[in-house]
Amino acid sequence: MPTLAIAGSNTPMPVARIICIGRNYREHAREMGHDPARATPFFFFKPTSALLPQGREFTCPWYSHQVDHEVELVIAIDRKLQNANLSQAQDAICGFAVGLDMTCRDIQREAKAQGRPWELAKGFDGSAPCSALQPGRYADLKATDTISLSVNGKITQQASWRDMIWAVPELIVELSRYTTLTPGDLLFTGTPAGVGPVVPGDILEAKLDDVCHLSVVVAKPAAR
Ligand code: MN
Repeated sequence: MPTLAIAGSNTPMPVARIICIGRNYREHAREMGHDPARATPFFFFKPTSALLPQGREFTCPWYSHQVDHEVELVIAIDRKLQNANLSQAQDAICGFAVGLDMTCRDIQREAKAQGRPWELAKGFDGSAPCSALQPGRYADLKATDTISLSVNGKITQQASWRDMIWAVPELIVELSRYTTLTPGDLLFTGTPAGVGPVVPGDILEAKLDDVCHLSVVVAKPAAR
């Protein structure tokens, strides 16, 4: 089973599932061409084979010409939850991280147009780089504020996770209506505005304040 390192611990967390929230920030909905007043968040899944731990290079899939970064707050769940209320949702948070929902935008656009699923755009190997998990409860999460991404030292995405359309406990409540949340589930909670393409050789630095840090090198293609 894939695992995620836990900061300050030698024992990693087994990862059960990667559940992603789409369209959870108004400015990102706007940049994707949607009316933010009518934007409704939604869910999709990535396989756990998408997980790319800190220290591993990211490789763009051969079949895409535009791979975008999406920096996201990541939440870990430590219990089974079904039809949870807000307080049960808050209590289920056991840690947080910063991650990247890497997206083949051209393939996603084509899938949307053809009414096909998103797996090739969103679920490819290594499409979910993630920092080590910072153990903490909801109160600890609330002490943090800003997720950011810099590409080659230049900030491209920066926002307070407080600007989410569905706040973290709300989205856990919503999710638990449709799927039974389980210990080891990782929630990628949506990206703010500023998504953009990466190219081989780029260095991506994602942060949640000074609490979580993820550094990813975009691999250069192998020499022929
Ligand atoms: Mn995303």
